[in-house]
Amino acid sequence: MRSIYVDDDLQAIRDQVREYVERELVPNVEQWEEAGEVPREVLDEMGKLGFFALRIPEEYGGLGMGHIASVVFAEEMGRSTSGGTSITVLVHTDLATPYVTNFGNQEQKARWLPKFASGELITAIAVTEPDAGSDVAGIRARARRDGDGWRINGTKMFITNGGFADVVFVAAKTNPDVKGSRGISIFAVEKGTEGFAASRALDKMGWHASNTAELVLDDVWVPDSHLIGEENEGFYYIMENFQNERLALMGAAIGEAQKAIDLTLDYVKEREVFGEPLWEKQAVRQRLAMRQAEVDAGRELVYKAAWLTDQGEDSVRLVSEVKALVGELVNRVVYDCVQFHGGMGFITESTIERMYRDARIASIGGGATEVMLEEVAKRL
Ligand SMILES: Cc1cc2nc3c(=O)[nH]c(=O)nc-3n(C[C@H](O)[C@H](O)[C@H](O)COP(=O)(O)OP(=O)(O)OC[C@H]3O[C@@H](n4cnc5c(N)ncnc54)[C@H](O)[C@@H]3O)c2cc1C
Repeated sequence: MRSIYVDDDLQAIRDQVREYVERELVPNVEQWEEAGEVPREVLDEMGKLGFFALRIPEEYGGLGMGHIASVVFAEEMGRSTSGGTSITVLVHTDLATPYVTNFGNQEQKARWLPKFASGELITAIAVTEPDAGSDVAGIRARARRDGDGWRINGTKMFITNGGFADVVFVAAKTNPDVKGSRGISIFAVEKGTEGFAASRALDKMGWHASNTAELVLDDVWVPDSHLIGEENEGFYYIMENFQNERLALMGAAIGEAQKAIDLTLDYVKEREVFGEPLWEKQAVRQRLAMRQAEVDAGRELVYKAAWLTDQGEDSVRLVSEVKALVGELVNRVVYDCVQFHGGMGFITESTIERMYRDARIASIGGGATEVMLEEVAKRL
């Protein structure tokens, strides 16, 4: 069902991305799940097709579009049936590159954005640490002034694209004397910088096609020109960027949920049980109808939150509601979809089994449901 927030131009983008995802991604994702990453040539091609340019300003080689475009794109990536494939791309387009788009200076924008838009450089964002995830203010990575730059030490955990990204935006404390959220800054660290290494790729329940790394920063030096925005303002940048992140993640979750329902509809209309297709069982079709109703409602809410953010309004409450609601919803959807696939839904070679595993992170990553509900509750 087309959202009232999606105009003809956005629909044309959706059609183009959907066609590409069906033709080039869906038939290959199983291979990438096994390999543990999406081949760089695929990212190169997506960059050439302009898929990474939607949110990059026009003067830097992008299309300068808003959050709604991101959600359209994320929804279609979600239909790839591989959460690992879509997150590899969305981390670059919506979680990491906005640090330069929104907070970088002119020189940084000119240096990096055209290459982010074309896919020549792929990015990652490193906030989480072994002892600090939900509580961003609790990070321990430390950056100290050293000559014309900064020396960074610390460990980052669960970093998507961390093992291969060309530029990683790293959050570190620049003023540990202030309590809580102040005193954090963001630095761009380039692949190959001395002392910067991905120590290990982490095995996961799902998202097998994405590289998730632990990163070690051992006396890494970066010049002043790699400080993003203002010193000590990093916490606010992270909080603001969570809006991008959560909208894209939940756009993808809606795409995943819809694809899971579509696959299940095909299955239950074919599969015969007690002499008739499963679809003839009222209990089955009503449950799927209810899940579809929830996905339609969730989709409109994601788009409304994206629209509100594009208007420059304070959308933290609505985006948090969306993250809590849709992160849980996609899990409910894939749970029922596995149920109606019967034993086949439990078998690794079935697509729905992968989608079930991939969905689990939706209520944890980028702000756990409970953390989101606290954001909502604060505003009630
Ligand atoms: C596959 C994967 C990829 C990731 N990619 C990235 C990335 O690219 N970059 C990055 O920086 N991070 C990344 N993360 C980190 C992710 O965002 C964190 O895992 C998430 O924010 C939760 O933090 P945590 O794991 O430390 O859980 P914790 O903060 O330890 O929380 C554990 C649980 O406690 C509960 N909880 C937490 N706070 C509250 C509260 N206030 N009230 C009630 N209950 C609460 C929630 O249920 C939560 O799930 C990734 C994680 C995974 C698993």
